[in-house]
Amino acid sequence: MKIQDPSFKYKVASIPGGETLLNCFQCGVCTSSCPYSVWLDWKPHQVMRLAILGFKDEVLDTDMLWICSSCYACTVRCPQGVDVKEVMDVLRRMALLDKGFVRDEKKFYTEFLDLIKRYGRLNTMRMFLRVTGLKGFTENLKLGFSLFSKGKIKLFPGKLKGQREVEEIFEKTVKEEVP
Ligand code: SF4
Ligand code: SF4
Repeated sequence: MKIQDPSFKYKVASIPGGETLLNCFQCGVCTSSCPYSVWLDWKPHQVMRLAILGFKDEVLDTDMLWICSSCYACTVRCPQGVDVKEVMDVLRRMALLDKGFVRDEKKFYTEFLDLIKRYGRLNTMRMFLRVTGLKGFTENLKLGFSLFSKGKIKLFPGKLKGQREVEEIFEKTVKEEVP
């Protein structure tokens, strides 16, 4: 593990959603409530601990962070009032804004949000191309054709009526985003 950043926990706690991080006393109730924790590298209580100890690179790269389904089971059961789900969201947003941070899920999130911003809805074909690249696209031509022939994928789905309003939501949100 790299040298930790002692100020990291304060940064997380200063971002809306991360305020309760420092209340964690490591009881593990969040982990025992989480439907995914048995399968993953770091459990929710360990993710909180990594963040408190300032292991930024490690915490942003935990599978737990990226597989969390926002079910809130951890948050509603935490005896210390730590909003674990919201803290996870803050950490994910930090990873998304960190230009040096690379991970497949980040690419997926980034491309997904960009397409929603541009078209007001998901453009499946473009999403597939952006995430898998031309190689993945050609490897899955048969599946793609099958979906296309059933009307599940459109070549030119067009923009949603009201796309500009969706774009404005994105612009406003980014302005108020993590510093
Ligand atoms: S349940 Fe709350 S206090 Fe306990 S480990 Fe999880 S976040 Fe920390
Ligand atoms: S919100 Fe995320 S971390 Fe919390 S219990 Fe649900 S899946 Fe697990």
